[in-house]
Amino acid sequence: MQRESYRHKGLRKKLVDLLKTKGINNLKVLEAINSIPRHEFLDSSFLEYAYQDQAFPIGSGQTISQPYTVAFQTQLLDIKKGDKVLEVGTGSGYQATVLAEVGAKVFTIERQKKLYDKTKKLLLKLKYPRIKTFYGDGYKGLPTYGPFDKIIVTAGAPFIPEDLLKQLKIGGKLVIPVDIDSNTQEMICVTRKSEDNFEHKEFGKFRFVPLLTKKAQD
Ligand code: SAH
Repeated sequence: MQRESYRHKGLRKKLVDLLKTKGINNLKVLEAINSIPRHEFLDSSFLEYAYQDQAFPIGSGQTISQPYTVAFQTQLLDIKKGDKVLEVGTGSGYQATVLAEVGAKVFTIERQKKLYDKTKKLLLKLKYPRIKTFYGDGYKGLPTYGPFDKIIVTAGAPFIPEDLLKQLKIGGKLVIPVDIDSNTQEMICVTRKSEDNFEHKEFGKFRFVPLLTKKAQD
């Protein structure tokens, strides 16, 4: 595992400057990206790409989201210190650490067992013991741990899962990329205004790997 170095810090600072030019202005989000060693979340052969604004393969056919996308979704969630946040699609764990750094109590679900095992270990190694990881199907959320102040989905969803809406507190927000076609999603932010009033807002087009049904066994 690559150690932290001045070079990494310099590259992160450049990444943060780039994200600012792309419209990310939430200081807590920028500070989180400035402090988290993203290179630890990539396979060692991709280290040189760790601080480019790109998505990357993380094994098991999955990707670590592009830093801009991570920053954009986190900014939309408008996290307050102590918010209970559910993440669907743990993947590398990078987004989960950004949520933790901006003050959230994080609960994150992954459907692929290998990735779940690998990321659980990595999060402990990087000293994030308070991020709670779950192996399961994110379409169902985590009913026994909800309701949540915020929910973030980090895979392209064919529709907005009803179970996730049910697990949102009143006043809470769900940020979810919803399929427009087979490889493009619209970023949607749903705010629960009351028991049965949900406000939807659209925030532009993104590309994600698909949100798949059920747990995978490997
Ligand atoms: N947040 C991640 C990005 C992961 S890519 C990061 O920061 O690296 C999306 C992830 O969602 C993949 O790991 C994929 O296996 C997972 N996924 C897809 N469908 C899922 C489902 N129904 N429940 C839980 N995880 C799912």
